Amino acid sequence: MSVIDQEVPDQLLIDRFGRSIDYLRISVTDRCDLRCVYCMAEDMKFVPRSQLLTLEEIVRIGRSFVNLGVSKIRITGGEPLTRCNILKVFEELGELEGLKDLTLTTNGTLLSRYASALKDAGVTRINISLDTLDADRFKRITRVGDIRKTLTGIDAALDAGFKRIKINSVILKHRNHDEVLDLVQFVKDRGLDISFIEEMPLGLIGDHNREETYYSSDEILSDLQGQMEIMPTMEQTGGPSRYYRLTDSETRIGFISPHSHNFCEHCNRVRLTSEGRLLLCLGQEHSVDLRRVVRGNPGNDEALTRAIIQSMEIKPKGHDFNLSGAPIIFRHMNATGG
Ligand code: SAM
Ligand code: SF4
Repeated sequence: MSVIDQEVPDQLLIDRFGRSIDYLRISVTDRCDLRCVYCMAEDMKFVPRSQLLTLEEIVRIGRSFVNLGVSKIRITGGEPLTRCNILKVFEELGELEGLKDLTLTTNGTLLSRYASALKDAGVTRINISLDTLDADRFKRITRVGDIRKTLTGIDAALDAGFKRIKINSVILKHRNHDEVLDLVQFVKDRGLDISFIEEMPLGLIGDHNREETYYSSDEILSDLQGQMEIMPTMEQTGGPSRYYRLTDSETRIGFISPHSHNFCEHCNRVRLTSEGRLLLCLGQEHSVDLRRVVRGNPGNDEALTRAIIQSMEIKPKGHDFNLSGAPIIFRHMNATGG
């Protein structure tokens, strides 16, 4: 009996360590209209367009994952909204029965154009990256960006009716660590959530020494605790964030702490790069070339299904990030799909 003839249990994707995989992140492009200093080098080489998965291939792979019990897909990049005709991917994935959560991570610059259409396509939640509220700093951190576009994008997402929008902020010492209180006030005023992220050593960036700019989640927490009342909660949104809540509002404050609070034990996700490489861990190179599988088997998803199931055998136990010295992962975050 073939894999796809068998009765499909609720959760098929379980790795060697007993972790259930129900979450797929898809990087739909490695290109971006910004050049954030922690994510990219100034001068980047992007994947040739012929090597990118087509939109149809992205949907085909997404559908196979959902058939295997994946209930959450996040579209990311690079900047996903810069990919031509990307709405088609949201529209087609949004129709999949079994997909409970279709989410997007974006820098927000194109949301004023796309927010309503994304809502109509079935996007359930949006994360928007914003590391500072100061226009000059924003320009320095993103190298090229105009903060007004991201701020307008946040307003557009609110106007389109998105709930529980989350701001992602990567915090670097002496670049923006003094803004954590202002960022919390910003999200509180707008009814948003926020996650503070420790910088991960992915790719050579040539801008700063990551060991020197490291600012831990515990330092941020203590900065906040000195100024406002926050309490830990047990809430989960299916990701690695540990959450706190302001006592006087609904705003959640999350901490993504790959260095100080390793979250691998509860990992529930895999990532698909824009070239179709299925990465089993953000901080390791174990991967399966799904582009080769889909292109080698047009019109027949059996081999794809089998390849995805078999990939569980090589999902590593966890990442091993080290901020000193050269990164051990040369892939940049834009290629990985953060
Ligand atoms: N362009 C979109 C954006 O910026 O939201 C989506 C892709 S971006 C790679 C996804 C997330 O990864 C962003 O929140 C960004 O701040 C974060 N990120 C990028 N490089 C990172 C790094 N080296 N360490 C930690 N987070 C990083
Ligand atoms: Fe682009 Fe997002 Fe990377 Fe910034 S973090 S360079 S917005 S992909």
